[in-house]
Amino acid sequence: MNYPISDRIKNMSESATLAMAAKARELKSQGIDIISLSLGEPDFKTPKHIQEAAKKAIDSEKYFAYPPVSGYQDLREAIANKLEKENGIPSSPDQIVVSNGAKQSIANLMLSLLNPGDEVIVFAPFWVSYTELVKLAGATPVYVTGTLENDFKPTAEQLKDAITDNTKAVLYSSPCNPTGSVFSKEELEKLAMVLRQYDNIVVMSDEIYEHINFGNEGHVSMASLPGMAERTITINGFSKGFAMTGWRVGYISAPLPIAKAATKIQGQITSGNSSIAQRAALAAITEDLKPTMDMTKTYHKRRDMMLDLLKEMPGVVTNVPKGAFYIFPDISNFFGKSDGETKVKNADELAIYILKKANVSVVTGTAFGAPNCIRISYAASDDELKEAMARLKKVLAELK
Ligand code: PMP
Ligand code: GLU
Repeated sequence: MNYPISDRIKNMSESATLAMAAKARELKSQGIDIISLSLGEPDFKTPKHIQEAAKKAIDSEKYFAYPPVSGYQDLREAIANKLEKENGIPSSPDQIVVSNGAKQSIANLMLSLLNPGDEVIVFAPFWVSYTELVKLAGATPVYVTGTLENDFKPTAEQLKDAITDNTKAVLYSSPCNPTGSVFSKEELEKLAMVLRQYDNIVVMSDEIYEHINFGNEGHVSMASLPGMAERTITINGFSKGFAMTGWRVGYISAPLPIAKAATKIQGQITSGNSSIAQRAALAAITEDLKPTMDMTKTYHKRRDMMLDLLKEMPGVVTNVPKGAFYIFPDISNFFGKSDGETKVKNADELAIYILKKANVSVVTGTAFGAPNCIRISYAASDDELKEAMARLKKVLAELK
């Protein structure tokens, strides 16, 4: 057989985070004691009251039919209400589109807004799926890269320099996956000052880690700044803040024509998101945020512990992540070094070396547009993190 596989798929990279997680899972199933720090997945259970809402929805027998494509009206009302009250974003239910995770929200946007030849400015380091989804739409990602010295945050000047007549959108996450960096209000305002000059460029602000923020300023949304709501799509979801990765609920709040475009494509590809998951999401967004805040406190403590443990490893250079649950150290000091058997040339090889020798899975920075770095997720227990860092310290010290 000569099976047809499209050029679209041939040209697409596999998700590096999911691929590394699968590799770790496979080694684990062979009985190898792998500590998996590759996947950005909360190690907490979905809070009980959210679980209960899903059980109640099933027992009511009211939610077995196709839900509306863009999500149940009451969920969209609750999301619009939350965005207004908590984020200062003017929003109405018809601007909300609920999807199968924020990943689908982003795919919807790319496929419904971009034509071949269009450019999307992607702030680097970036989350792995951004660039592949831009390319899937036939458009071109243009990278604007933040340096470690500037906490991996690109500046307004860099943004301005990257804009061309083909630029259609700017995409970033804050808090950032993979760097943990958070744009302050002042920094967002500087970016906004550039963006307000262009009526043909939209901002895609991925705020899925909004609750996992360790700073005193709290989360600031781009769309809350003057003049920005009309040009900003806010992307968010329940996976991270509510430990609901498997429930698959994400959403956008967008100017109406964009919300309609995203709904149109979703209507052809998947229809509305799982009815029961939406009822759970409604409880998450309208009820007690304490479990979310407690999880964030734990991530904050772990971040501090991880920074202390990484400080004990000569050659490892980090910024101080202000949110999310990742550390993104620069490990280029180890390139060209060998343990006597294996020579490590780059971040890809270092990630494999760490997996094979320390049995700890991390993700190469190359997949995030930062070839000098690796990403370590600290969404794991203190004991696992301590053990993983002890192993890492040992195998890095063997590289001479
Ligand atoms: N955006 C960012 C920055 C992420 O890290 C993730 C991780 N999964 C997503 C979007 C997608 O999340 P989900 O599809 O689980 O809602
Ligand atoms: N966003 C998470 C990560 O970066 C989950 C994996 C994925 O969806 O790619 O690890």
